[in-house]
Amino acid sequence: MGLFSRKKKEATPAPTPKRADPTPPPRQAGAPTDLRSEGCPYCGVVLKKVPAGQTKCPSCKQKIVLRVDPRDNTYRTMTEVQAYEVDMAMDTFGTPDYPKYVARVEEKRAKLREKFGSEPKFSDIAWGIMNEDILRFSARRNFDSVRNTYTAMMRLTAIEGKTVVALDMALRAYYMLCCGPYDENSTKADPATAWDASYKRPAGELTEWLEKYAKADGKTVEEAARAFEPAAAKMREGMKMPVSWADIWPDCL
Ligand SMILES: [Zn+2]
Repeated sequence: MGLFSRKKKEATPAPTPKRADPTPPPRQAGAPTDLRSEGCPYCGVVLKKVPAGQTKCPSCKQKIVLRVDPRDNTYRTMTEVQAYEVDMAMDTFGTPDYPKYVARVEEKRAKLREKFGSEPKFSDIAWGIMNEDILRFSARRNFDSVRNTYTAMMRLTAIEGKTVVALDMALRAYYMLCCGPYDENSTKADPATAWDASYKRPAGELTEWLEKYAKADGKTVEEAARAFEPAAAKMREGMKMPVSWADIWPDCL
């Protein structure tokens, strides 16, 4: 499983499904319809040719990405946030969770529209949903799901250029990783007593991101890790995490 996939081990809380289809949509057969365009999805400038892979707009310098959207089986050029939206939907598309996902997105969209008085961006909708997930998963001490959600939040904030928040999310995900593979479905003993020093591990896939976002914040990884200690102490208190961040990072980062 990639770091970006968000496991759906538990049912999402049941928001009133108003517009959601009660049955999951079928996967579309056949090759996707190619709707790639030579227009930049950010600034609209006409590119020299239709992108064949990820590229940078020569005018606005933003990253143009390609995705097959399984919801309508189309292949499109899109912004990073649009690609993020496709990736989030893909996690549940074709499963019984998909209608619940759609209902949650629409419910959050309506709430934010009312709050802002204008159409909310998908990134705001996703952020709101993920914050609710963090609260719910934390209350159940579902470490795996909390970690996956923080990783998804890291990716979203990085796309938006909010590297300081992305760094915080990366540190949170990494702290969770070193606290063990527990979740509420686990049959293992309580992590507060069963934690094992072997769970302390190098940051793995997160290393590159930690370095990149720390650098963007003008820090070394060590400085960022130390600065994260007070926030980590709050996480530990809230989720009864088995080991302190200060006991982990000096050996691993
Ligand atoms: Zn552009």
